[in-house]
Amino acid sequence: MIKTLLIANRGEIAVRVMRTARDMGIRTIAVYSDADANALHVREADEAVHIGPSAAKESYLVAEKILAAAKASGADAIHPGYGFLSENVAFADACEKAGIIFVGPPASAIKAMGLKDAAKVLMEKAGVPVVPGYHGANQEAAFLAAEADKIGYPVLIKAVAGGGGKGMRRVDDPAEFAKALASAQREAGAAFSDERVLVEKYVSRPRHIEIQVFADAHGNAVYLHERDCSLQRRHQKVIEEAPAPDMPEDMRRAMGEAAVAAAKAIGYRGAGTIEFIADASEGLRADAFWFMEMNTRLQVEHPVTEAITGTDLVEWQLLVASGEPLPMTQEEIPLDGHAVEVRLYAEDPALNLFS
Ligand code: ADP
Repeated sequence: MIKTLLIANRGEIAVRVMRTARDMGIRTIAVYSDADANALHVREADEAVHIGPSAAKESYLVAEKILAAAKASGADAIHPGYGFLSENVAFADACEKAGIIFVGPPASAIKAMGLKDAAKVLMEKAGVPVVPGYHGANQEAAFLAAEADKIGYPVLIKAVAGGGGKGMRRVDDPAEFAKALASAQREAGAAFSDERVLVEKYVSRPRHIEIQVFADAHGNAVYLHERDCSLQRRHQKVIEEAPAPDMPEDMRRAMGEAAVAAAKAIGYRGAGTIEFIADASEGLRADAFWFMEMNTRLQVEHPVTEAITGTDLVEWQLLVASGEPLPMTQEEIPLDGHAVEVRLYAEDPALNLFS
């Protein structure tokens, strides 16, 4: 079992991970930048290591500093939380090489799901339904416009390296395609240093339904049902709930099984989320959902799943990372009640400023 855990994060998620670690008798190490010297996560930890100036790229995002802090404090495992280094292939790899447990999937699984286009190819091979569209290498504007015609409007242009809704454009009219493509590419280049895009069918009455999966190092994988994150603004989640309203039982099973197949196809371990989009124009149906992407980490909205399954997903993460088998079989996972989580955004709508 892990004895000393360094949490390579700050704020709410760092405190949440520490709470479970403490309950499990694991010693906790915080890291902090200048800005966080008096933060709650520093006070809550058994020990805290200063890792540099306030800017995240000079502190929380510097893999060498995190690894040095782990060594100096005798940590045998690192929990990355979410954001920061949680989906960083080089960091997961560096932990493996340094003999420190990375509480997350193998670096190879993070890499497999890192780009939306390559992930879709992999999922097609694994028999998981993916959104119809073009996710190949040809990036010529005329070629992509012809693909959009084949798919049928409306279409959605997406940055292959995308996240946070950046580099994403809905196009309703073929006459608008070239302009939308150029602006998506510009935004993707600025945000991800990667201009490549994919084009897919825009689902007009979409529901964003994602499945929480968990896998251990012994070949077991389960799903902990769904979260509905359809209520969004600027393609970003605002309200997350579990279970999804009006979810048919056969669709829950079909989505769960597709998600487990996806996790198994990439040799997954630990907590992950498979995001699907469903076409709700005729209500939710077991044959109308498609893979969008996988998040290879614990997510902000994990507590709604914990609430309906009576589980502690951080505890599961720490058990699995320690080499233990999953605590429950598929049949043993309950679905009880209904939980809702709401995100607060700071906006100035008059100036169209948001954060
Ligand atoms: P990002 O990684 O940038 O957040 P996602 O691929 O996760 O982008 O998509 C973000 C949101 O955009 C989804 O939750 C969904 O609401 C919407 N979306 C994505 N793909 C489609 C699609 N093909 N049709 C309609 N809406 C979509």
